[in-house]
Order: sequence, then structure tokens, then C-alpha cells
Amino acid sequence: MAANPILCGCGQVARCRTSWTQHNPGRRFLGCPNFADPLLNCNFFRWVDRQLPNRWYEEWMYENHVMAMNAQA
Ligand SMILES: [Zn+2]
Repeated sequence: MAANPILCGCGQVARCRTSWTQHNPGRRFLGCPNFADPLLNCNFFRWVDRQLPNRWYEEWMYENHVMAMNAQA
């Protein structure tokens, strides 16, 4: 049986995205599909992944992401 899709406050299927903030690097979350539009965004937000295990891991993930982004540019 398929899991019920999680709906945001607009009644649309919430979209899974990945956070790359310094405190939650690589952590997936569900958000409103209208997140890019401040007039339509209902500010729905729910974490998919658990919090990273420790501060060292957060910094390691974040630094790797920044280095990967710089390598692409
Ligand atoms: Zn919404």
C-alpha cells in the first residue's frame, strides 16, 4: 500500500527538497510547492530526515557542499 502523500496548507502535494544551511546541511524536508512565490507560499515545513548526529558532522557536510558548489562555478 502506498503511503498517503503529505499535503501542504494549499492542499497540494508537498515537495521534498534538501536544506543546505550551515546547521542542517544535506537534510531533506517537505515544503509548499509554491515556496518560490511569497504570495502563494503557505509556509508548510516538515523535516524528512533526522537531525544530524553532531556538530562535527554538520560542519563536514556543509564544507563539502560549499567545496562542491565552488568546483562547479
Ligand atoms: Zn502550500
